[in-house]
Amino acid sequence: MLWGVFSDIHSNLEALEAVLKHFDSQGVKGYVCCGDIVGYGPQPNEVTERIAALKPLHAVSGNHDLAVIGKMDVSWFNDYAQAAALWTRETLSDSARKFLEALPSRDVAESFMVVHGSPRNPAEEYLLTRQQFLDNAAGVKVSPCFVGHSHLTWWFQRDPSSPLGTKAQLLRDGQRVDVPTGLAAIINPGSVGQPRDHDNRASCGIYDDESRSFRLARVPYDIAAVQKKMRDVALPELLVLRLSYGQ
Ligand code: ZN
Repeated sequence: MLWGVFSDIHSNLEALEAVLKHFDSQGVKGYVCCGDIVGYGPQPNEVTERIAALKPLHAVSGNHDLAVIGKMDVSWFNDYAQAAALWTRETLSDSARKFLEALPSRDVAESFMVVHGSPRNPAEEYLLTRQQFLDNAAGVKVSPCFVGHSHLTWWFQRDPSSPLGTKAQLLRDGQRVDVPTGLAAIINPGSVGQPRDHDNRASCGIYDDESRSFRLARVPYDIAAVQKKMRDVALPELLVLRLSYGQ
């Protein structure tokens, strides 16, 4: 079965629709969402409801989701993220809030698991280095473990034949990796709604749980339409502009 894996949507409906259309065209039958459904962008309710309707769905909460529902302090966010989180908190519908409140921090499925940041610290750790991956490998109860949070397309894998004990790489558009049985792997599909690797296209991936392969995809979407909606509700201009640059 093919799973559409996506993360860090950040209330960007145009980017989400483009990614879901891509999943559809590839025969995806299930969905994996690694959190940060809201925050930063202009359509938190529409994005939450669209994701809530996907079936079957394995989804976890991200730090922005927790901040918006009051389960995490926003004071450590930068000013722009804080302003967007507070705006989202006021804009969120009851049904969207209920959906976000019900999300777990970890979801262990039959052929993969999902957290937002890392297995040992699901809400907060940015998984960026080989050492962090090694420190988290024991927490990968079912491999691969899908993560988000950094908005970067990291792939880490245990590799006993390498002197460092790992393989690590940032995945590019169309790149495929095979997940070996019995060795921990962690994969970040990148960010749907706010990519930060200087590629402004939405990022996502498809996991085939039979062949145990993952393929990354970058999908163009109407960035100007989202930027207009952000300006209409007076979200910080820096958040508007960064979408053009993918950073
Ligand atoms: Zn995020």
